Amino acid sequence: MLLVTLLLSLLGAGRAAAAPRPKLLVVVTVDQLRPEYLERYRTQLTGGFALLAKQGAEFADAYQDHAVTETAPGHATILSGRWPAHTGILRNDAGVQDLSAPLLTVPGPGASPARFRGTTLFDWLQTAEPRARALSVSRKDRAAILQLGRARQPVYWYQAGVFTTSRYYADSLPDWVRAFNARRVPFQAAGASWTLLLPVRDYPEPDSVPYENGGTDFTFPHRLPSDSAQAATALSGFPTMDSLTLAFALDGVRALQLGSHGATDLLAVSLSTTDAVGHAFGPDSREIHDQVVRLDRYLGWFLQQLFVRYGAGNLLIVLTADHGVTPFPERSRALGHASATRVIPDSVIRAANAALDRRVGGADWMVFDTGVLLVPDRARLAAQHVDVDSVVADVATQLRALPGVARVDRPAELALHDTTDAVVRRWRHTVPPDAGVELVVTLTPYSIWSSAASRSAQHGQPSELDAHVPLIVWGRGVRRGRYRGRVNTVDIAPTLARLLELKPAEPLDGRVLGEALEPGR
Ligand SMILES: [Zn+2]
Repeated sequence: MLLVTLLLSLLGAGRAAAAPRPKLLVVVTVDQLRPEYLERYRTQLTGGFALLAKQGAEFADAYQDHAVTETAPGHATILSGRWPAHTGILRNDAGVQDLSAPLLTVPGPGASPARFRGTTLFDWLQTAEPRARALSVSRKDRAAILQLGRARQPVYWYQAGVFTTSRYYADSLPDWVRAFNARRVPFQAAGASWTLLLPVRDYPEPDSVPYENGGTDFTFPHRLPSDSAQAATALSGFPTMDSLTLAFALDGVRALQLGSHGATDLLAVSLSTTDAVGHAFGPDSREIHDQVVRLDRYLGWFLQQLFVRYGAGNLLIVLTADHGVTPFPERSRALGHASATRVIPDSVIRAANAALDRRVGGADWMVFDTGVLLVPDRARLAAQHVDVDSVVADVATQLRALPGVARVDRPAELALHDTTDAVVRRWRHTVPPDAGVELVVTLTPYSIWSSAASRSAQHGQPSELDAHVPLIVWGRGVRRGRYRGRVNTVDIAPTLARLLELKPAEPLDGRVLGEALEPGR
């Protein structure tokens, strides 16, 4: 009898100690969302942004603390808890592209997480709870794929008017995805207009700014093409794309019965229109203002649907971004940042490749992308008696001479520098020793990488403008409030792991944000 009582009390104690786990973890990533937008438009935000900021733990000083601040590396940090140097995802152009994983039902670039190294939160979740399921959804392949690492779960993105996936994940689309696509919403949007949501007096920004959107169609209203196929493609630059992505995610939640497997399931949603609008019109435009206000309303609707389905107490929600953005140099110069410029490195790299071609033949020995110079075939060049170090030193000298270039470093030398220098630290967080990176190039504040043809606003620098992101955690176990201390997106996964009582499968770069957790967590 005593033994039974003892056993019962032990079981009871066990039950009392274990906090109930949420049914669904929701991770919302807004591509190119500056935290500053949530301040600038705060009085007009009444939806999802407002709710999360008011009721959640909001970190005012959060960073994607790495150098190549792009979509692929940014998304890969969020649920892995590791820097690009450790996830293997350094830059968009070597992100998820995979010819061996073609898309289903539509033409388009094949994609998979083949370059992603290690595990993510979902892997840890499934180890603890084999019944756990995930769904990841975005307009962009890289944004949908990299939140889940290499897990073969339902992962969908948008291509030419439909949501699809690649053969890495499946051989056919399930009925719910087919049914959603069959409604042909993007095609029926042909000719539709994007008008202001609020009265025009609520937008202090000038509307007609001639350097916006490549110098064309820079005034409201903006109209989708009247051709339905063209409209379905152009939709990715319209706010409606985000509401479509959220509607698709909710259809998936219902079809996959997320949250009813007796485990915590994961829903990752990445919303891409803020990035498209930010590139085209810049972070100070009337267009980005309207996009953020509209997205706030869409998110409010989306969260309400989840609250009705699960009850607020059964949800754990995270809001963050993959990177920020630097304004148009034209605008920065007008505001007094005299050295802001577009830096076009193409001719330097082309000349260096042409010189090597004349000496030893072959094509593009050097690849330059967003501040990173690679020589993928260094050994082959060296075998042909090319002094690669001196060729690279030559290129470094020429890059240093370009207006807008602040510094050019060799990654090996950065290892000797102090990490209190944000630029040094962010490059060290980016470049693994075995990536074949010969040089890393940093621009002066407010300058951007560009090509001869591009007139867009841009991100990709180890700067505060590009690295500063919002971070809000909402749900049981989280202490609401505004936290001023400096945190990073690699802290998200360890914090969620603590809240869900999971054990990360490998060493992480982030820490548990204990300051925002209730005692005992
Ligand atoms: Zn972008």
